[in-house]
Amino acid sequence: MGAAAELRSGDWVVFVDRKGRRALTRLREGQRFHSHRGWLDHDAVVGLKDGAAVRTSTGATLRVWRATLADYVLKMRRGAQVVYPKDLAQIVFMADIQPGVHVVEAGVGSGALSMALLRAGARVTAYEIREDFASLARENVTAFLGEEALQRWTLRCCDIYEGIAERDVDRILLDLPEPWRVVEHASESLRPGGIILAYTPSVMQVSQFRDALAAHGFELAETVEVLVRPWHVEHMAVRPDHRMVAHTGFISCGRLPGDVTPRAR
Ligand code: SAH
Repeated sequence: MGAAAELRSGDWVVFVDRKGRRALTRLREGQRFHSHRGWLDHDAVVGLKDGAAVRTSTGATLRVWRATLADYVLKMRRGAQVVYPKDLAQIVFMADIQPGVHVVEAGVGSGALSMALLRAGARVTAYEIREDFASLARENVTAFLGEEALQRWTLRCCDIYEGIAERDVDRILLDLPEPWRVVEHASESLRPGGIILAYTPSVMQVSQFRDALAAHGFELAETVEVLVRPWHVEHMAVRPDHRMVAHTGFISCGRLPGDVTPRAR
């Protein structure tokens, strides 16, 4: 189900200038895009091919591309810090997210991880303790993924440390300060073979989470960090960029064996 080759009203796009700077906008009839390189009407963009060149009022040339999920996540409105695209990609693979899996996710924050999961076809029950973040996440998810995704996304404004109501869950993904407090609930909520995963900025959190996994019989535990080093490539000048994002978070996961019965531990 690819997107259309032509840009349409309602599409999220990025305008990219000669220096590669990106501005995220949603195309709307009658609206105008403003930048320090001049303005242009959205109506002049609707119907153009994805990646077309356009001119602003000052004669500057920009290209307009349909926004990727990574473009959107990095520029959307944020309450809490979002999971970065490099980590989203790793999480989707480590947790083996696929169409139809039921994922319990906490906390939702600005909704970046929710969007990556929904995009990969999962059904998501998302816990968020703060109502203001929950409603911002709902706006972000709806704006970018539309009504179809909302049918697979249940937002619950509650504290996951108190327990998980869902049963036979395929995956539990955690991005909150004390993921070890969810491990016991997870062992009762996950189906045999289910995967639990936590994204944590500090090694102390990794250690405490991994201890909790071991204490509750989880196996195949792994912890990784994802270092993405962009390269500068220009003719013969081919070298790593001077700057990179040095640290975001550690990703730890484990799986629940089939013969560990809840409360038998
Ligand atoms: N993964 C999110 C960011 C999550 S930030 C994203 O990609 O956008 C952490 C979130 O966890 C915050 O919004 C915080 O309010 C929420 N949170 C913290 N403790 C929680 C709890 N016990 N239950 C549910 N949500 C919690």
